[in-house]
Amino acid sequence: MTLTCRIHGAKDLRLEDDGPSELAAHDVELKLGAGGICGSDLHYFHHGRVGAFVMREPLIPGHEASGIVARIGSGVTRVQVGDKVAINPSHACGQCDYCLDGRFNLCRHMRFLGSASVFPHVQGMFRERFVMGEKQLTAIHEDISLGELACAEPLSIGLHAAHRAGELMGKTVLVTGGGTIGCMCVMAVKLAGAAKIIVCDIAERALTIAKQVGADETIRSDQAAPESLADIADISIEAAGSPAAARRLQASRELDYVGAFRAAHAFDWAVQYLRKRRVDVRPLLTAQIPLSRSLEAFELASDRSRSTKVQVVCD
Ligand SMILES: [Zn+2]
Ligand SMILES: [Zn+2]
Repeated sequence: MTLTCRIHGAKDLRLEDDGPSELAAHDVELKLGAGGICGSDLHYFHHGRVGAFVMREPLIPGHEASGIVARIGSGVTRVQVGDKVAINPSHACGQCDYCLDGRFNLCRHMRFLGSASVFPHVQGMFRERFVMGEKQLTAIHEDISLGELACAEPLSIGLHAAHRAGELMGKTVLVTGGGTIGCMCVMAVKLAGAAKIIVCDIAERALTIAKQVGADETIRSDQAAPESLADIADISIEAAGSPAAARRLQASRELDYVGAFRAAHAFDWAVQYLRKRRVDVRPLLTAQIPLSRSLEAFELASDRSRSTKVQVVCD
């Protein structure tokens, strides 16, 4: 039996036992290594939706996970039983106009794990065991933890944002929001050569963590006058997910505004940076809680005064 965390609706998270899964030739059965609880998982849990993505059937959350190979299909060559793996949660079609242009993150037929963007929903990874196509997996032989490896997906978001921001060498960068994604952006812009990184947030705890991962300066945005933030940076990255924070960046200047959605090639970059620990995500890892206590994990993850990244792990 496979212990599975499944959201049936707002505030209705259940632990259920699922049966074994079939393996096709290029499929791999994984045991969950660590699975990070993301803002979108919390939205499904609290509201049964993330923006336009509304749950229409029960959903297994989880798109930020690492795993250990438990069983492989007859045609699998990329991984072996016992391997520790990074898991790319993004399944692009490879055929639409965006995919053909190399912008897989914008795929018109995207199947993203643990998401209600399509129906039937694509089930996620908060379960003891699950099956994944081998092409989603990268075996990691370096000595980094399953918890760090599970940060490949959120790190890819920061890397993609930094990439979209353009040339960063020598620049002063303001990141609004010191949560997981804000901190991933800090590490990404630092890698890209930013000379000075400023982070603002309304929570003291978030700013402390942002400093630990490389912010040079931090600002309490609830205590600063909006005008005082207007000209302090060459580039600003909005990572608070807050319309108020985005408005603050739009002062009366000739600003270029670009969007960043998920990540395309940046997932592979993230895996490379993590495996050599050129990016050290350990300050972000607040707690690992057994899957059997998922509700407690979701509650802790919902409390920004106590947590940055909470992960579920096998018991
Ligand atoms: Zn996420
Ligand atoms: Zn596509």
